Amino acid sequence: EERVTQGIRHEGLLHVLRTVVERDPNQFLDAVHEVAVSLQPVFDRRPELLPAFEAICEPERTIVFRVPWLDDSGKLRVNRGFRVQFSSAIGPYKGGLRFREGVRLSIIKMLGFEQIFKNALTTLPMGGGKGGSDFDPKGKSEGELQRFCQSFMTKLYRHIGNRVDIPAGDIGCGSREIAYLFGQYRRITGTHTGAITGKGVDFGGSEIRPEATGYGCVYFAECMLESNGERIEGKRCIVTGSGNVAQFCAVKLVQEGAVVLALSDSKGYVYEKKGFSVQQLEQIMRIKASHHGSLDQYNSDTAQYVGDSRKPWEIDARYDLAFPCATQNEVDLEAAERMVNQGVSYVFEGANMPCTAEAVEHFEAKGVGFGPAKAVNAGGVAVSGLEMAQNRVGIMWSRQEVDDRLKTIMHQIYKTARDAAKEYGVSLAAGANIAGFLKVGEAVLAQGAV
Ligand code: GLU
Repeated sequence: EERVTQGIRHEGLLHVLRTVVERDPNQFLDAVHEVAVSLQPVFDRRPELLPAFEAICEPERTIVFRVPWLDDSGKLRVNRGFRVQFSSAIGPYKGGLRFREGVRLSIIKMLGFEQIFKNALTTLPMGGGKGGSDFDPKGKSEGELQRFCQSFMTKLYRHIGNRVDIPAGDIGCGSREIAYLFGQYRRITGTHTGAITGKGVDFGGSEIRPEATGYGCVYFAECMLESNGERIEGKRCIVTGSGNVAQFCAVKLVQEGAVVLALSDSKGYVYEKKGFSVQQLEQIMRIKASHHGSLDQYNSDTAQYVGDSRKPWEIDARYDLAFPCATQNEVDLEAAERMVNQGVSYVFEGANMPCTAEAVEHFEAKGVGFGPAKAVNAGGVAVSGLEMAQNRVGIMWSRQEVDDRLKTIMHQIYKTARDAAKEYGVSLAAGANIAGFLKVGEAVLAQGAV
């Protein structure tokens, strides 16, 4: 309780937070606390919005299910599946599926809660949701992956649908898994409606969806830098992770003239002193696409590989921009201090909640520009929203068209968060929370019986 009520002075809000703790004493609280702290000035001005926040803290529906599947030796394996349908106030539930060892309800709730505000910021009518499983796709055969996905969808299909809840990918759930999930949805329901995004472009997917989160991070960064009279070109960058988000973030940075010095995975990192070329990044994409691919297989005369799960913040060189694109809590206070010492002037969260609260505080105290996840990585779900729109109308936009829309949306997100931050005299991160909340909160209020 202490952790989640710290720094909260608003009596009504304290009551809401105590209720949240009683119901769910775990990880999800960090996300609620971070948003609650930044919403205090809103409740000072608009106390009538507090019940809407109370409502938003409780998911509309939580589905937990058994996912049985047969491994290659014919042995029965059982995983746990989740779908948290958090808020449908502004549109159908929307959010990814995370397949990863250690996934549990509190993580899915944390991500689902974040998703509500992120989706609201995209300007598109999407509510918030998230799902996943503690299934670990690493080292599984193609047949095992397929059987797991089919079983997962057999349990989930009755709860989702084009106007109800539209899942997509997340960590461990890429285009291959989405295709298996969609195939099973189609087989069971006999319909070829959207129902899931991130599909292949030949069967209802959108152009630019795989690239969207990574590209979006760079479009956001560009807009923020420009508004401070700076440019991406020539900036020295660190990107963590080497999955979907990190890969396309790095490619776009290089295309825009920035220098990408490092990428990482759970085992270590690669440091290219002169920066990666697009060809070298393509080599990394090929490595990561193979079943057991890890960065130690990267082959280049000019690169240095550091194992032991070390992180690239420590490289012995100056860098300007950091894009943590791996996973939650990868940047703690120590990492933040190191980054500041290496000269970082902006941090953009490509992953969901990669920086701890202490790290964010440190960046803000040191005057480092900080782009929060909800805003920075919203490009993925934004293009998912564009995929939904194309599916509904039955058309397909060109790469250029989707890319242009993505860019416009990312710039809009930056401006919305910045304007809210200015209006309330708070940080950009708090501004993003405020702007996202106001849209959902007003919708909850307007619809009555919150
Ligand atoms: N998993 C992504 C996210 O965290 C995308 C979700 C989606 O496209 O629905 O926003």
